[in-house]
Amino acid sequence: MATSMIQPQLALLVINAGSSSIKFALFANETLAELVRGQIDGIGSAAAFRAKSPDRTIDEQLRWPLEVAPKDHSAALHFLIEWLGQTLVGVQVAAVGHRVVHGGSHYTEPVVINEAVLQELESIFALAPLHEPHNIAGIKGARAAFGDITQVACFDTAFHRTQSFINDTYALPRSLYLEGVRRYGFHGLSYEFIAGYLKEHFPERFSGKCIVAHLGNGASICAIENGQAASSTMGFSPLEGLPMGTRSGRIDPGVLLYLMQHKRWDAHQISDLLYKESGLKGLSGGLSNDMRTLEASDSTEAKEAIEYFVQHVQQEIASLAAIMRGVDTLVFTGGIGENSVLIRRRIMQGLEWLGLHVDETQNASGATVLSRAQSNILCLRIPTNEEGMIAQHTKKLATTDRGRD
Ligand code: ADP
Repeated sequence: MATSMIQPQLALLVINAGSSSIKFALFANETLAELVRGQIDGIGSAAAFRAKSPDRTIDEQLRWPLEVAPKDHSAALHFLIEWLGQTLVGVQVAAVGHRVVHGGSHYTEPVVINEAVLQELESIFALAPLHEPHNIAGIKGARAAFGDITQVACFDTAFHRTQSFINDTYALPRSLYLEGVRRYGFHGLSYEFIAGYLKEHFPERFSGKCIVAHLGNGASICAIENGQAASSTMGFSPLEGLPMGTRSGRIDPGVLLYLMQHKRWDAHQISDLLYKESGLKGLSGGLSNDMRTLEASDSTEAKEAIEYFVQHVQQEIASLAAIMRGVDTLVFTGGIGENSVLIRRRIMQGLEWLGLHVDETQNASGATVLSRAQSNILCLRIPTNEEGMIAQHTKKLATTDRGRD
């Protein structure tokens, strides 16, 4: 009998399609162990591909000559599927999970994608014009490529739907709330992953008052009480709250009226300003949106950008603690939260008045517990895994597969 060295294996493919990139990760269906993850960047221009497996047996980088580079999401997906087939011989994709930025007020949990779901998602494009169309392009491309297998949409907004009306609204006429002008919140898959981690490893903390700071290029903070989202710094769009790599965070709307009325800026210019030119990049005088570059710089602007970021994280933590009438646990996650010893230290040092006492040695070594034993607040560093969260949801829904057309 012919034998194969490689056992046929079912896998779950996770896709996160952005404006010019597709991030992906493949997980074993049975154990949810990660097999490989990577991304295709620069779709439509100088596209590049990279992929790595946790054990580094796969470690690949590729930059296409312009003439043959994938021109759109569909071509990029086509390459990815071929590459997966050639690299992970014997692995068969059983279901696909998609990260979708916005689920509107309707989707409070992940959903199996069918025609009706796709139509509904297209109807809320206006809520996330910069992200949602790309997410949907990824879904359509994967449906075309994989045919009939189950595909699941997992929403960044879903976790926040437990917020009370008070934390879900702006002080605007109620008619606007009813038509969808709400504080949706984002990074929900990251917060859900962290909540699941706490439930498993720190169960008494899971049922308490937690504040999770997801500090990356995009950054937000979420108050989680008894495992459920209570409030978030991000609101109607991923612009509210903290200053980010290139996004402004909290701003007086009067500034936007000034730009429109006195400088005649249009929506496109204001969108570019708020999404692409502000935050750490704007504050550092254009030096960088990357915290590593700012930390390494001696310039006054870079130092002020860091100071602004740190102070706003502290302010928002205090404000979320006020909403929950206290805080027992603070979690750092995201690229900055997981990796920057300096930023974590500075944030924690400024929260001593709340009873948080940093353990400098633990913080410097990147341990899970960052606070001292006598600290009133347990402070943790937990690497997030949004793709792993999507894989969990996809496995669950693919098993039952409701609602297919
Ligand atoms: P995204 O929102 O794009 O997913 P990430 O979560 O990957 O962003 O975070 C990217 C940010 O993390 C960048 O500002 C980067 O500088 C920062 N970062 C990554 N590693 C470090 C480090 N060792 N020290 C300081 N900042 C870091």
